[in-house]
Amino acid sequence: MYEDFGISKEIEILSTKVEQDVEIIFKNIDKVCQKNSLKVLKAFQNNKISDMHFGSTTGYGYGDVGRDTIEKVFAEVLGAEDSLVRSQFISGTHALTVTLFALLRPNDTLLSITGKPYDTLDEVIGIKDNPSSLKSYGINFEQIDLVGNDFDYNKIEERLKKGNIKVIEIQRSKGYSDRKSIKIGQLEKVISLIKSINEHIIVMIDNCYCEFVGTIEPLEIGADIIVGSLIKNLGGGLAPNGAYVAGRKDLVNLAAERLTAPGEGKEVGPTLGINKSILQGLFFAPSVVASSLKTAVFASKMLEKLGYSTEPRYNQERADIVQTINFGDEQKLIKYCQGIQMGSPIDSNSIPEAWDMPGYTDKVIMAAGAFTQGSSIELSCDGPIRKPYIAFMQGGLTYEYGKIGVLKAIQNIMK
Ligand SMILES: *Cc1c(COP(=O)(O)O)cnc(C)c1O
Repeated sequence: MYEDFGISKEIEILSTKVEQDVEIIFKNIDKVCQKNSLKVLKAFQNNKISDMHFGSTTGYGYGDVGRDTIEKVFAEVLGAEDSLVRSQFISGTHALTVTLFALLRPNDTLLSITGKPYDTLDEVIGIKDNPSSLKSYGINFEQIDLVGNDFDYNKIEERLKKGNIKVIEIQRSKGYSDRKSIKIGQLEKVISLIKSINEHIIVMIDNCYCEFVGTIEPLEIGADIIVGSLIKNLGGGLAPNGAYVAGRKDLVNLAAERLTAPGEGKEVGPTLGINKSILQGLFFAPSVVASSLKTAVFASKMLEKLGYSTEPRYNQERADIVQTINFGDEQKLIKYCQGIQMGSPIDSNSIPEAWDMPGYTDKVIMAAGAFTQGSSIELSCDGPIRKPYIAFMQGGLTYEYGKIGVLKAIQNIMK
């Protein structure tokens, strides 16, 4: 069966062994999926979702009951007072940008305690010059690096006691760095430290790739506002675009007034026919995240057996859906990404190459044979072309397709 697909007997045999090795891990993923499915279904029922919420608005988008109810459902699922779930957010980066500009004012200081934020925020913050950056408005930025994959609690305490920090940004997922992602337990510990020093500091979480990986979300353990993309976990592969912001009502309102206009806020924003896809995407999201996790665990064990170092290891606790594979070799990284593309349902005959993407410093290779452009809840793999040549793989709408993609990519580096 696999040989028809260009996958050797050897790799198929190895995959059967690996699936036995990961059986218990998969069972645990199913348990998390079950709990999150309950959470989602309860939110649908509590908010009395019905056919009328699939309706649509155009123009200003006044009185879009579907949109308003979707925001209540997301808020309930995420443990938030309120949320903003909009297709007018172009992407996660845009939602993070809107939120930062909404929360910060001239002379305020933004502090990142997970080191340098995600690459696409460099020009937003002003780490890299841009005449429209936060820095250009007189907003300061400071960062405290992680130490040994955990927060530098002493440095954070010391800095907070000096005062004048308005917003702390915490990026849970590793982005394109070689650190580990932040587990919910670590997050809880650092938030309680922050709040014990100054309860007014706003704790903002870049939650991209982390939703539904566990059963507790950051707002439930004290975060004030979280941001994520709908072409990642919570879109379930069905949301056509967009992002969300959720958390404290006053803060979500500030983000709404920055996304639309002061005085209009959440009241406007046409949905142009996507309400049903957003709801259906959220409905599928627990299972899709589970499939992505299984794909990641499977890849981690397969590549470990073949002698590569992977992070997380197949049996380690996960905070996000990202699997990194350290190839230590430019060609292998490129071949692996190209193999993922070959195993995709869309554009399987195109060959991705590294290029200068807007917002990124190094050349990046991106494999994404996805139904939705750039969707990384669908099996996708990318990597900046820099040492030590790490592939960042994530997504998988179903485990079965995810597995085939991984086998195809492995076959492509073996040739
Ligand atoms: C994907 C991602 C972003 C940016 O999201 P886009 O939708 O690609 O703009 C920001 N932070 C993290 C950690 C991400 O994984």
